[in-house]
Amino acid sequence: MNKLINEQKTFFYSGATKPYSFRKEQLQTLKAMLKRYEAEIYEVLRADLNKSKHETLTTELGILYTEIDFTLKHLKSWMKTQKVPTPFTHTGTTNEIMYEPYGTVLVIAPWNYPIQLAIAPIIGAIAAGNTVVLKPSEHAIHTSKLLYKMFQETFDSQFITVVEGGVDVNQQLLNERFDYIFFTGSTNVGKIVMEKASQYLTPVTLELGGKSPAIVDKDCNIKLTAKRLVWGKFTNAGQTCVAPDYVYAHVDIYPKLIKEMKKQIRKLYGNKPLENKDYVKIVNYQHFKRLEKLLETGTIITGGEVNEQDLKIAPTLIEDITWYDPIMEDEIFGPLLPLMSFKQIDDVIKQIQNYEKPLALYYFGSSNKNQEIILNSLSFGGGCMNDTLYHLANPHLPFGGVGSSGMGAYHGHASFETFSHAKSILTQSTTFDIPIRYPGGKLAFKIAEKLFK
Ligand code: NAD
Repeated sequence: MNKLINEQKTFFYSGATKPYSFRKEQLQTLKAMLKRYEAEIYEVLRADLNKSKHETLTTELGILYTEIDFTLKHLKSWMKTQKVPTPFTHTGTTNEIMYEPYGTVLVIAPWNYPIQLAIAPIIGAIAAGNTVVLKPSEHAIHTSKLLYKMFQETFDSQFITVVEGGVDVNQQLLNERFDYIFFTGSTNVGKIVMEKASQYLTPVTLELGGKSPAIVDKDCNIKLTAKRLVWGKFTNAGQTCVAPDYVYAHVDIYPKLIKEMKKQIRKLYGNKPLENKDYVKIVNYQHFKRLEKLLETGTIITGGEVNEQDLKIAPTLIEDITWYDPIMEDEIFGPLLPLMSFKQIDDVIKQIQNYEKPLALYYFGSSNKNQEIILNSLSFGGGCMNDTLYHLANPHLPFGGVGSSGMGAYHGHASFETFSHAKSILTQSTTFDIPIRYPGGKLAFKIAEKLFK
């Protein structure tokens, strides 16, 4: 491991990764690699999670293609050294911000979108001129093997390499000295990563999780709300970091919303979702059992069926939930959706403020006033008004959490900024020298006093 990282460092210090032409070529190669392996990508995601081709294209590959194209379009201008204004006190100087790559970057990926979440950070790392060591998740084993093969066949290991393995391998990697660590995963492991990073003061981005609420107000479009909630929750069988974790609906529309959501579940997944060949499975037995236990909470309105052999759990709506039930303790990360009702928007705010700051928040309703109240009183990573998940696929919007849902952000320009150090440079004139900064008796002090009022 140490040898591999040293080789990357040597390659980085050769300066090879820095020119625009190199970065552009590598991004084009990355896209070509994904295209070349598309059929195998569909196969491994089917094997690891039973993802359909449609879901793989829209939630994994499509996002990466968009991200690569967007980066290629803007990279030249992002890389430009940026001139900034010169204050009067700095007369004679020019002032600039240079974007330099950090060096050798460690990317640690989770299993739930094992292609997208492994490669999206790499796009930013390449764009900014770094070398990359990728550690995919051991729980999406077919994808992990394919990632290894694809990168090994396409890129020189001194530029990008994949290190496969589980927790022990990750711990070994975290003992090494990287120049940047980009971690996507759970809040608990995020804390371990940050602690490890602190030994060398390595900068980190932590893309974590949390309980993302969906608030449904009485003036929403109920049909559309139900459709978008059902899609956002049950895509990838709820194993999405920004999936609505629970629904908090106005008491006046609560019964109608449930009726519509049941209809939408049937429409999207059929009368027997467990027999739907494209319905995503739970990643492993341990998570399946964890989720099965959560089914014991509250009253199941629809769903609740499980198939232990296929590791599938039907889309499930649950009511009669209290804020103190086990299902409300941690991020659910599965196809179970608790629903609760409220009377006043103020109660919603108070309740959500009791929790850690979520990664996402969704508000459904047409009142601008209530939208503003929500936006101004609750802190969360990002989210949507009248939709779910969609914000993360716009490369113009930085994506990341806040508080325990993460720190830092990426996608589009934010990715370039994340993987670049902004180096501030002042270039001083040598033709004259303004004396006020030097200690020089009363006059210098008087001038300084006038300037710094
Ligand atoms: P995880 O934290 O268990 O694992 C992530 C990575 O860390 C894996 O590569 C794993 O090998 C490694 N790891 C696990 N335990 C470790 C330990 N003790 N020490 C060192 N390394 C360790 O997360 P996961 O189960 O793969 O993914 C699910 C979580 O990720 C959810 O909480 C979800 O919300 C979050 N997530 C966040 C985003 C985001 O963009 N913010 C995206 C997807 C998933």
